[in-house]
Amino acid sequence: METNAVVNNLITLYREKKLAHAYLIETNNIVKCYEDVKKIVMGICCPSNFQDNCSECNLCHLIKENNLPSLITVEPDGKNIKKEAIENLKSSFSKIPVYTENNIYIIKSPEKMNDTAFNKMLKFLEEPEDNIIGFFITENKDNVANTIVSRCEILKINYKSNSDSDVLGVDEDTYNRYFELAQEYQNMLEKNDSSIVWYNNSVLAKELSNRTEITIFLKLLFNLYMENVKVNHEDREFVFKKVKIISKYLEQLNYNVNTSLLLDSLAIEMGELYGK
Ligand SMILES: [Zn+2]
Repeated sequence: METNAVVNNLITLYREKKLAHAYLIETNNIVKCYEDVKKIVMGICCPSNFQDNCSECNLCHLIKENNLPSLITVEPDGKNIKKEAIENLKSSFSKIPVYTENNIYIIKSPEKMNDTAFNKMLKFLEEPEDNIIGFFITENKDNVANTIVSRCEILKINYKSNSDSDVLGVDEDTYNRYFELAQEYQNMLEKNDSSIVWYNNSVLAKELSNRTEITIFLKLLFNLYMENVKVNHEDREFVFKKVKIISKYLEQLNYNVNTSLLLDSLAIEMGELYGK
């Protein structure tokens, strides 16, 4: 299922009072999944009918910053989750929550609980209380003890990998071809090469036939300059000016502009930076 679908689905279940006591979520990215589980928690606790961007309310803010007393995250301390972590969880939850209706815990990598922690956790799971909701997040549910798995509803949330070609929505080959073009173009810009307008109209015009392709090309060019900003400290301000120009033209691509004129004026504006 798509991430937002899972998040929204659980929030809806909660509102319909059909949420289970515990969920085990299998994911390929624990960090991102944790953030999404916190969104679920916001959806459960937010008094102002949580929307994805709720930043107004205090509770959502506390959850975001991990400062809400009735939300406890347990994660491996070094290699293991130790019994103290589970004991702390239990004693915190022996109190009635003040700001929220429920006490909620999130356990990252539950397979890393050591034996004593595991036994304490199990007792906790065996006697579920009405106002306690739990989320376990793991990379592989086969590594999680069956006694835990069997007491949870199982969900799967997978995230796309963030390789550059994925982000741009193109396959590797297309990505590589545009990347080379962008590099070549950067070299010409850096040399303030006067044949760049000719290059626009002959080479680029053939390679980049529509707005989408030009957008990908400019994003790659943008990234190349951003890399320069990171490494090149001396000329940082100067490189930043170029980055700003590129992002301005990227913005313009959202509108119905003449794309070949757009590339020409980009080249001219970059050239002017060098004060010819
Ligand atoms: Zn809120």
